[in-house]
Amino acid sequence: MIIDCHVHINQYELLQNVPNLEDRLNALQTEMTNNNVDYAIILSSYKVNSERPSTKQIIDAIQKYDNLGIAAGFTIDNHTDDDLRKYRQWIKDGKIKAMKIYSGYEHYYPYDERYQKVYDTCIEFGIPVMFHTGDTYSEKGKLRFARPLNLDEVAVDNPELKIVMCHLGNPWIQDAQEVLYKNKNVYADVSGLVIGSFDHYFEKMIKEKVAELINYAGEPRYLLYGTDWPISTMDSYLNFVAKLKIKSEFRDGFMYKHAKKLFKIS
Ligand SMILES: [Zn+2]
Repeated sequence: MIIDCHVHINQYELLQNVPNLEDRLNALQTEMTNNNVDYAIILSSYKVNSERPSTKQIIDAIQKYDNLGIAAGFTIDNHTDDDLRKYRQWIKDGKIKAMKIYSGYEHYYPYDERYQKVYDTCIEFGIPVMFHTGDTYSEKGKLRFARPLNLDEVAVDNPELKIVMCHLGNPWIQDAQEVLYKNKNVYADVSGLVIGSFDHYFEKMIKEKVAELINYAGEPRYLLYGTDWPISTMDSYLNFVAKLKIKSEFRDGFMYKHAKKLFKIS
C-alpha cells in the first residue's frame, strides 16, 4: 500500500495546460493508478484564484472519490474566523484530514500567535498541522519564515499538537533532523525535493542527506511518503525512495502506516 500525503491540484507544472479542475483530478487519478498509489492528501492553497481552487471547491469536486483527503490551507492574510468555523465542520465530517500553514509564502513565523487558533483546532480534533519548510517555490517567498528550526517553538509550546514538516526543510536538512530528533510530536514528509524528475547527481546528494538525517534522528517513525505532484513526478519519486536507506521493517511505516494513523485514513 502507498499513501502520498502531499499532492496539489493547482494549475501548475504538469497541470499547467489543464484549466478544468475535474480534468486535473482525472490526471491525478491516472497518475495514482499508474504508480500504485492507494490514497493521496490534496493540499489546498494559501490563496484562491482561477488556478487555485478553494477548499470548498476541492471538497465538492472530490465527492465521488474515496481515495482522496484534504489538508486545508490556512493563512493570516487570506482566511477569516468564518473559514475556520467551516473547516471545523469539514474536519468533523472527515473531509479535512489536516491543516496546512504556508510559512515563507506567507510572511509570518509559525509561532505567530495569530496561528494559535489553528493549532488549538488541530489539537481538539486530533489532526496534524503541516508546514511548508525550506526553499520557496516562489521568488516572493521569504526564507527566514520557512526555516525548520521555527517549528521547534511550536512543537515545544504545543506538546499535544502533531506537526508535519514538509520537504525535510530542504536545504536546511541538518536543522530538520535536530527538530525531529528532539520533538516526538514532529513528523516530516520527503515531498518536493525536486522539480520534475531527479537527475542522477542530485538524487545521490539528497539520498546521502536523508541517510544522515535517519542516522541522527533515529528509526524513521516520523518519516512520511509524499511527492508534491504535479511539481515532482510520481514515478521519479518512487524510484528515489526505493534507493533510500530505510530498513525493511520501517519501509511500510514510511510508505503508508505512519500516514494512515496520523491522518486517520480508514
Ligand atoms: Zn507542496
